[in-house]
Amino acid sequence: MKITRIHDLYFKEFIPSDEITSIVKNLARQVESDIDKNEVPIFVGILNGCFVFAADFIREYNGNCEVSFVKLASYNGTSSTENVKKLVGINEDLTGRTVIILEDIIDTGTTLQEIYTIFRSHNVKELKIVTLFFKPDVYKKELPINYIGKNIDDKFIVGYGLDYNELGRNLPSIYQLTTQPKMKNIVLFGPPGAGKGTQATVLKDTYNLIHISTGDVFRYNIKNQTELGLLAKKYMDEGDLVPDEVTINMLKAEVEKNANANGFIFDGFPRTEDQAVALDAFLAEKGERINGMVALEVPEDLLVERLLERGKTSGRTDDTDESKIRNRFNEYNTKTAILKDFYEAQGNYFGINGVGSIEEITARLSEVFDTL
Ligand code: AMP
Repeated sequence: MKITRIHDLYFKEFIPSDEITSIVKNLARQVESDIDKNEVPIFVGILNGCFVFAADFIREYNGNCEVSFVKLASYNGTSSTENVKKLVGINEDLTGRTVIILEDIIDTGTTLQEIYTIFRSHNVKELKIVTLFFKPDVYKKELPINYIGKNIDDKFIVGYGLDYNELGRNLPSIYQLTTQPKMKNIVLFGPPGAGKGTQATVLKDTYNLIHISTGDVFRYNIKNQTELGLLAKKYMDEGDLVPDEVTINMLKAEVEKNANANGFIFDGFPRTEDQAVALDAFLAEKGERINGMVALEVPEDLLVERLLERGKTSGRTDDTDESKIRNRFNEYNTKTAILKDFYEAQGNYFGINGVGSIEEITARLSEVFDTL
């Protein structure tokens, strides 16, 4: 589940695209089975919202059919108080035809009623209505809706053709209006030795955020010989990643411990795509989201040097053996580095040059943190 911002409002994923696909298929099957084999229906989509639904629906529909689109335009008549509605785009002769209206969403039904009345006046043989979404709580008309994809609550939705002030139509899933997130959550990203821990320690105070380092939490558990520590140790000693399920549950517990925080700096998490997906879903349940992934970009050779140097004093066994270090990079390159694409696709990736003095890098990071 994701949270996305459109204009001034926030929306959370509500109906994923694969669920929409099965709803559309189902509708097509129902409509198909009610139509006489020899009949060529004409599907009429009501623009703009229905263009995505109509495109998917007609490709699911087996049998000959015609497709057309209309738009209900309101324009001011001769007097300024007169608000006349007109359908633009019916060019076909509909006399004696089976007309099936395709709507993306029906709420009060006012628009639909007007469209229905206009079509009725065209001497059609039969007039049916298919809607992808229906809001039963606000529907005020008597008009029967022949086919309903899914009933939904009376909350504003966008995506899959539906807009909020013209934006959001291209989202593949349906998103529902949600409250504005209160937290500032940042993923501090970068390969081992990039300086995430050092920078997080400074930035957490400046921005009043809680710093969660999954590596530190594991090390704390190892030191205290907890069950979790014993489990994690065998992976960490080899430079392997700890299994996702263990890490994700631990991360959630750390967040829950600080439920009233201003926000978090996640350091060392997520490290796999499954972790990133789980983090998005977990935050979205709370009406929160990741504001951005800020990445420290440092060449690998410099990192190995830094880690070996750190190993002299850090007491970390995974910092002293070059082969273990190489394995951590291997894990990073094969499982973690792809997260750049994951956050980039959300428009949420901010890369920063991680070579320089600690202060220089803090300044570069702060510049990005300020905008998130
Ligand atoms: P770090 O202190 O971030 O370099 O992490 C040290 C080690 O802890 C890693 O090499 C992994 O074995 C383990 N670890 C830390 N964070 C994660 C994570 N998000 N997923 C899996 N393993 C992790």
